[in-house]
Amino acid sequence: MKCAQYADWLQLSVDGRLDANRQRSLDAHLAVCAACRHDYALLEEVRDALAMPVVADIDLTDAIRHRVAQYELVTAARHERNRAFRRDFMRNSAIVVVLLMLVVAFLQPGLWHSATDSVQRTWPQVVTLAMSPGPYSIPWAIWAAAALVALGLFVWLRRTETLTTWRRALEERISQIR
Ligand SMILES: [Zn+2]
Repeated sequence: MKCAQYADWLQLSVDGRLDANRQRSLDAHLAVCAACRHDYALLEEVRDALAMPVVADIDLTDAIRHRVAQYELVTAARHERNRAFRRDFMRNSAIVVVLLMLVVAFLQPGLWHSATDSVQRTWPQVVTLAMSPGPYSIPWAIWAAAALVALGLFVWLRRTETLTTWRRALEERISQIR
């Protein structure tokens, strides 16, 4: 057989559609014919190149999913930043308002004097009360400190819990997109 007659078989072989008998015959020819080996290699290259768009499609889908996941992360980060900004803004506003009220209050004539006076009068009573034993003969000061610590712990735990819930929801959402 001549090379031209193998041409159709080359294409079939590259596509994996050539039957075993013809494949053996083609293999025998390819072993001795450099020209057909060259064509065979070319056809393989074309086949691989044609297969590429399928791979590219998958990559594109992945890329879009990745972009969406990225967008989710960025949006979540922005929300968190906004929340932090609002929190800081509220706190700073509260501080400014309290300072302004203090300044206005102490600019009143006689108010500073009467304020320090009343502190001087009530402070010893507060100290006496704090040092006096409360329930279980434990001083009130220690009860107050324990209550503060408990309150701080409660707030911290609630905050951690909220953050964990929020992160878990976010991770779930992102894993769904991916
Ligand atoms: Zn040949």
